[in-house]
Amino acid sequence: MGVHNCQDLNIDFFDIIDEVLSASPYKFRLYAGTPKTLDGPLEKYWDLSNQCEWCIRCEGCNHWNICAAKQDLLKMIQKAGPSCSKCGKLLDPRTGLWVPGYPERDTEFWGLHQPQVIFPMHYAPNPITGDRESWAEIYKAANGGMETYKFWNEKLGESFDVRSVLLSRADIKNACVLVHENDLNQAIKRKKGYVQTVMGVDWGGGGISGISLTGISVLGFRHDGLVDVLFMDKLGETLDPLQEATLIMNLYRRFQCVILAHDAGGSGGVRETFLIQMGFNPNRLFPASYINTGPGKLVRYHPPEQTGSRHFYTVDKPRSLVLLCQLIKNGGVRFPKYDSWKRYSDDFLALVEDKRHVSRGADVYIIDRKRGMSDDLVHSVNFAALAYWHSHGKYPDIPTITGARLTDEQLARLHPVPKR
Ligand SMILES: [Zn+2]
Repeated sequence: MGVHNCQDLNIDFFDIIDEVLSASPYKFRLYAGTPKTLDGPLEKYWDLSNQCEWCIRCEGCNHWNICAAKQDLLKMIQKAGPSCSKCGKLLDPRTGLWVPGYPERDTEFWGLHQPQVIFPMHYAPNPITGDRESWAEIYKAANGGMETYKFWNEKLGESFDVRSVLLSRADIKNACVLVHENDLNQAIKRKKGYVQTVMGVDWGGGGISGISLTGISVLGFRHDGLVDVLFMDKLGETLDPLQEATLIMNLYRRFQCVILAHDAGGSGGVRETFLIQMGFNPNRLFPASYINTGPGKLVRYHPPEQTGSRHFYTVDKPRSLVLLCQLIKNGGVRFPKYDSWKRYSDDFLALVEDKRHVSRGADVYIIDRKRGMSDDLVHSVNFAALAYWHSHGKYPDIPTITGARLTDEQLARLHPVPKR
């Protein structure tokens, strides 16, 4: 039997963990835990299950109280104890039974939703003190004594989404003010007129979940600080690392890029070796590794530790992504015509922020992606932008470009650039 306490595990790993059962004749799997967000693994398995709720019939009015927040559960939490949501009479949760929401799945996968409210140790008096301390705690939590998401997760045993998306589709569409399409030939023609062009690469995850592909973007940096995403692409899973490296080198040269920023974590190291063996100048590489928010710089340089090892950079993931999204919203980062890269645009909608994660007592701000969505292109753009800003020792100043979102024509009228 495999048992997972799974609320904090990365869903991509479940298939691998489940492999431990491959030799078992029974293949029993049990997933248990406290649900957190609507995108978490527990919510996913709950969706697949027969979704049993504990149901208690009221002896007073015969109402069947269903112990789920969207049914009766919230109204059942009364001061005296678990009560009928219709008439308020005290209930005896022990008289309840499991009722599946999807009985046709009974033979496949059971899901039991177990809120604290239905357990005697939480509603019955403490056998030693005679007090209902645990119930008082639930009642207090239900009435503002606990943060809502914690109350839903811990006391009701239900998911609660406190996450919000960083970018909306409207934000993306509004940022698509460049006149060219996301087409290689059109983009290459546009590469002149920029201070520098930089390529960003986020390597695919090797297809653990089949949604992470290698994302490539080419950014052009302007004198006025604006950043134009000239070209974006995703490489198919059928390419081997050598073919990928060849393709990337080719694009890099065609766009006359000066830096190749890439995700050095995971398989990035192997891919970097391929590039260097093919003649890529290691000094032009910006290998980046994400870290979570801490005090200090957005990007930190780490020199080679010994001969043979290579330099790399650590990048503050949440802060850098928030900066990027803010720039996209404010017109500081611009994209090609929306329809020409619509199929990739979901990558930018996948980012969600989550302020609730707690690590060693301190709140940690986390940027995550929605379940089942890829975000590879966002990171390729982020790495490329950071590499340029870092190498020039200058980060964009958001207030100066607020509300811009201007096309080249409009900008030319504001800041005439002498023709070369
Ligand atoms: Zn009743």
